[in-house]
Amino acid sequence: MPAKIGLLGLPTDVNSSSHRGPAEAPAAIRAHLHSGVSNWCAEDGTDLAPLIADRGDLALSETPGDLETIAEAAAALLREGPGLFLGGDHFVTWPLLEAIHRAGLKPPHIVHVDAHPDLYPDFEGNPHSHASPFARIMERGLAASLTQIGIRTLNPVQQAEVERHGVRVFSARRFREALTALPCGATYLSIDLDGLDPAYAPGVSHHEPGGLSTRELLDLIDALPGPLVGADIVELNPGRDINGMTGAVAAKLVKELAARMARDS
Ligand code: MN
Ligand code: MN
Repeated sequence: MPAKIGLLGLPTDVNSSSHRGPAEAPAAIRAHLHSGVSNWCAEDGTDLAPLIADRGDLALSETPGDLETIAEAAAALLREGPGLFLGGDHFVTWPLLEAIHRAGLKPPHIVHVDAHPDLYPDFEGNPHSHASPFARIMERGLAASLTQIGIRTLNPVQQAEVERHGVRVFSARRFREALTALPCGATYLSIDLDGLDPAYAPGVSHHEPGGLSTRELLDLIDALPGPLVGADIVELNPGRDINGMTGAVAAKLVKELAARMARDS
C-alpha cells in the first residue's frame, strides 16, 4: 500500500491585501467533500477514502509565528508521504516550501497556477503578503525552478523579479504552450483559484477575467511529468462564492490531486 496522502488545512488570511475570507476556506472545502453531493472517487476511478489521511486544520494565530507553525507541521506530514494543503491565502506556500526543505526533500520544481505572479519584494510593506510568497521562496533557494501558468497581471516591479530569479512565465493566452514545457522531476503544484476564470471560480478575492477553465487545470494536473510531492489549493474566499461553485471546484481539485499523487506512488 502506498504512503497515505496527508491533507492539512491552513486557515489564515491575515496576509491578504484586500478582502479577508480565505481563512474560512478549509471548512468550506471539507463541507463540500463530505456533503454527499459527489462520491469519493476521482475521474480515473481511484477510491480516495482509504488513501487520504485527513489531519484536520492547523491552529494558527494570525501572527508572524504562523510561518514556523506551518513549516513544522507540514514538514512532519511530508516526512510520511505526499502532502495536500488547503489555504488560506497564498502566504502559506512560503512556509510549505520551507517544510519540504525541512522534511529532507530536494528543492522541487514549482508549477504555480495564478492570475498573479505573487513576486512583489513586499506588498505595502508586508514581506509576508500573499502577493510575495514566490519572491521569498526564490531568494531562499527553496525551488529547483518556478513555472507560472495563467498569469495576466504582470507589471514592471514583478517583471524585474521574473528576470532576477529566472522565472518561466506562461500567460493565460500561452496555456497550451505551457503544457508542452512543464518541468521534469519532483514537482510541487501551487493552485491559486483566481488562476481560473471567474466564471468557473467566482469565490476569490481578486476577480481577473480571461483565466483558465476547470478542465484546462485538470489537464495540467494530468500533464505534469512529476512525481507530485506536494500541492496547495489557496485563495478560496467562501463569502464571495456563488452557491458554493468555487468550493466545489476546490473539492474536485482535492480529489484529482490526491488521485494524481496515488498514481505517482
Ligand atoms: Mn492570485
Ligand atoms: Mn496567488
